[in-house]
Amino acid sequence: MATNYETFEYDVLVIGAGGAGLRAAIEASAAGVKVGLVCKSLLGKAHTVMAEGGMAAAMGNVDDRDNWMVHFADTMRGGQYVNNWRMAELHAKEAPARVHELEAWGAVFDRTPDGKILQRNFGGHKYPRLAHVGDRTGLELIRTLQDHGIHQGITVHMEYTIVTLLKDGDRVVGAFGYDRERGRFKVFQAKAVVVATGGLGRAYKITTNSWEGTGDGVSLAYHAGAELRDMEFIQFHPTGMIWPPSVKGLLVTEAVRGEGGILKNKEGRRFMFDDIPDLYKAQTSTDPEEGWRYTQGDKNAKRPPELLTRDHVARCINREVKAGRGSPHGGVFLDIAWIKEKIPNTAEHIKRKLPSMYHQFMQLANLDITKEPMEIGPTTHYLMGGIRVDGDTQAATVPGLFAAGECAGGLHGANRLGGNSLSDLIVFGKRAGEFAAKYAKENSAGKVNDAQLEEASRRALEPFEREGSPEGPYQVQHDLQEMMQDLVGIVRREEEMAKALDGLKQLWSRANKVAVASNREYNPGWHTALDLNHLLTVSEAITRSALDRQESRGGHFREDFPKKDPEAQKYNTVVFKAADGSMKLRREPIPPIPAELKQVIEEMK
Ligand SMILES: Cc1cc2nc3c(=O)[nH]c(=O)nc-3n(C[C@H](O)[C@H](O)[C@H](O)COP(=O)(O)OP(=O)(O)OC[C@H]3O[C@@H](n4cnc5c(N)ncnc54)[C@H](O)[C@@H]3O)c2cc1C
Repeated sequence: MATNYETFEYDVLVIGAGGAGLRAAIEASAAGVKVGLVCKSLLGKAHTVMAEGGMAAAMGNVDDRDNWMVHFADTMRGGQYVNNWRMAELHAKEAPARVHELEAWGAVFDRTPDGKILQRNFGGHKYPRLAHVGDRTGLELIRTLQDHGIHQGITVHMEYTIVTLLKDGDRVVGAFGYDRERGRFKVFQAKAVVVATGGLGRAYKITTNSWEGTGDGVSLAYHAGAELRDMEFIQFHPTGMIWPPSVKGLLVTEAVRGEGGILKNKEGRRFMFDDIPDLYKAQTSTDPEEGWRYTQGDKNAKRPPELLTRDHVARCINREVKAGRGSPHGGVFLDIAWIKEKIPNTAEHIKRKLPSMYHQFMQLANLDITKEPMEIGPTTHYLMGGIRVDGDTQAATVPGLFAAGECAGGLHGANRLGGNSLSDLIVFGKRAGEFAAKYAKENSAGKVNDAQLEEASRRALEPFEREGSPEGPYQVQHDLQEMMQDLVGIVRREEEMAKALDGLKQLWSRANKVAVASNREYNPGWHTALDLNHLLTVSEAITRSALDRQESRGGHFREDFPKKDPEAQKYNTVVFKAADGSMKLRREPIPPIPAELKQVIEEMK
């Protein structure tokens, strides 16, 4: 073991301190093993904290017809049946217990008049199901997990970035990274590693994701030999801010529609009534009045079409804009102010239900959402695919490696329902922590050899040693984001994606030549140069997978194959690193679904 680098030894190392990482760390620690937690930014600053609308759990507090079976069927229907059904089952069954556990740990949820956890409507969920805290649910989730976690003896390494996983033979035995402040290298030796690094929105130009969303964990796992699945399924959230340009992409929570917000084109038409997919016809209202009653809790009413799944709503918005019926800045209108026709004291009501949205638009766009409609458009939001894991244990396909949260694929299939991510984090974060701890107890520490560390360090320092480079990392990052947005975005075509694959080759070659100036101490240019490896890896995985799936399903829409292909419902797309270092793809048949789960799906149709 090398002595050149500061080295930490743990039983379980968790990379990422969002909801999934924190929950995994808590569980592993509770199992009595030594746990280290590494995060790229400050503790508490992950994407999880930005989550607004809520976490889905079939507690039946607002509508007692809800139960795990309805939630399971909704998740499978939303994912268009390419989900890991075992994960969908576990998620639906275990989410209520995980939410109650948060409550016991001090989370202060909004309440029903009789004191239960309040649940709100969200797209694709049959009944009001999202436990929430106004529109700041993620903040409460992360606060609660942090408060609980600090009493568990977890060691936290903040502002440390992992650049590669370390292996002993086939097994993952640790990680290598640097601290952002001084740029010093650190070695983490661990018997088991949990990756919980979140999504990859930063591969695109318009996104809800912060600078951290560069797909690191997905890429780290891939390069360590783990398989990725369903990488073609990217969620373009229908409602992001589009004006002013400085905030383009920022999320406008689905809770606005859950509280009665409606979508209109420039002609004032509620265009969502124009196209209701067959799969949802039985559950969707064709009458605006009935839709309004649904949002106000009428159990006999059907949901308004604004609460159809995100993939569909995003495409309808795209259609309106393309047809010249968009808003002045290239989106459509989202109107919550209209509810003044229905309820008194509207301004106070909206401010109470959607405080962050009110402030977001007031401060960033000088627009009062209690009086005027918002201008919104689709924005890259979420990765449905990710590291391929075992549904029960969250073990990746490489020994010693586990994954949870947004970087792990399977639960959401081709499209995620709103609110199913926060519950994913707590259900599968817990499982990842539990099984990583078990693995750590059953296995001794592996060996990290010096050559591996020297190679990791040499590669990380390369950008400082290149001279005469015409460009720094930002230009490459910018060009990649533009290209992915234009060629592998919300509407895809074969020739455009083939062009993107060529483009990726050129971008790889440019990335391998970028140079950075100055020294290792707090050097964002250097950090960006290292992030490029991840961004390019995940972009290639998305593009190859999207090219291969010759149909339209969920978040993946092919203009050249606009229909669903029943044959394509039978497999998942899997990418992996071949022995020669190239990215390879195969179609993995979906295991047969057990009869009892099949029956649940049929009964809920
Ligand atoms: C604006 C917004 C609103 C949302 N609202 C909702 C909602 O209401 N309901 C819902 O269910 N979902 C919502 N989502 C989605 C949900 O918040 C995310 O999918 C989820 O929080 C991801 O959690 P995570 O733990 O997987 O990762 P994150 O919360 O993204 O955390 C990732 C962690 O990994 C660390 N990390 C990353 N790379 C490295 C590296 N190389 N080395 C070390 N550490 C690293 C980061 O620093 C961070 O600590 C929303 C997302 C956004 C962006």
